[in-house]
Amino acid sequence: MSLPLPKPGILEIKPYIGGEGRTESIKRPVRLASNENPLGCSPKARDAYLKVASELHRYPDGAAADLRAALACEYDMDANRIVCGSGSDELITLIVRSYAGAGDEVIYSEHGFLMYPINAKAVGAMPVAAPEINLRSDINALLRAVTPKTKIMLLANPNNPTGSYLTKTELRVLREKLPEHVILVIDSAYAEFVEEKDYEDGRALVNAYPNVIMLRTFSKIHWLAGLRLGWGYFPSDIADVINRIRTAFNVSVPAQAAGIAALADKEFIQKSRVLARDGRAFLREKLQGLGLNVYPSVGNFILVEFGPKAEDIRLALKDKGIYVRQMGAYNLPHCLRITVGTAEDNEKVVNEFKNIVKK
Ligand SMILES: *Cc1c(COP(=O)(O)O)cnc(C)c1O
Repeated sequence: MSLPLPKPGILEIKPYIGGEGRTESIKRPVRLASNENPLGCSPKARDAYLKVASELHRYPDGAAADLRAALACEYDMDANRIVCGSGSDELITLIVRSYAGAGDEVIYSEHGFLMYPINAKAVGAMPVAAPEINLRSDINALLRAVTPKTKIMLLANPNNPTGSYLTKTELRVLREKLPEHVILVIDSAYAEFVEEKDYEDGRALVNAYPNVIMLRTFSKIHWLAGLRLGWGYFPSDIADVINRIRTAFNVSVPAQAAGIAALADKEFIQKSRVLARDGRAFLREKLQGLGLNVYPSVGNFILVEFGPKAEDIRLALKDKGIYVRQMGAYNLPHCLRITVGTAEDNEKVVNEFKNIVKK
């Protein structure tokens, strides 16, 4: 008899490591490693969360009907085609589990979100990275990567960690040229931050094609990352598949309540958007002024190039209680990703960089 072995592919996964930010020695660390909001979440979402404290002995509504109705109304969608998840991470997992397996290929963009190759490997499929140009997804390279074995193409738009995005025209051309059997997953986790006119979140493509999925999350502009809440807009056939495979109560009572309240708190959303926009411009200008290469970003984070010293610089910042994200796992070891913080946080970051650059 031999000892139990996991299914093929699983041991090839390097576990996902989140951003640092916990420390005993520093009173108020500046946590800019996980694209979280420095403002906390919407007070209305927090109230809604507290209000359901007396309901925790009850199972949640497994269909998340009220939350889906609120989303359908907000974004003009068919509620029957929305599926909610424990973070959009869960939906990525469910999509890949449902449509790919051993011998299949899952395409993602070279510096795309790490969860894509992780999930492909988890089901024994081959993750295929399509090269980027200047840290931006390239639709031609993505199309060239397609083979008869391709089942899914996962694309974060805008992408984390690069901050770049594909225009609505590029997305449309990509879908038109992709074979029908390939599902295109547009992960629009940062959509609410993007104000560029040539951007769209992917909803229109879901309405127009039977093989496009759009994913969204409450972790980013709504800042409920700790609650775990995401959602997707699906073709009905695929929504039906995901509803069969998901666990019956995958979205908790507090997540549903806080999600509905967060969606309605327009003032808070706008405040977060402005904070990200202004902070991004500030960091970009100041760091460029120090001679650093800052990649253009439309998210609430920026990617900065430091060359071979990147890791030393990250550790030097950490010593000062400033946490930024190392990018080795994304094959960008010479870069650091910095989440936009409060004006005060951003100022601190810039001042530390001034000291570091002087040395
Ligand atoms: C943060 C993020 C998500 C959201 O993850 P959740 O599981 O909803 O917290 C999804 N995709 C990308 C690209 C992200 O950066």
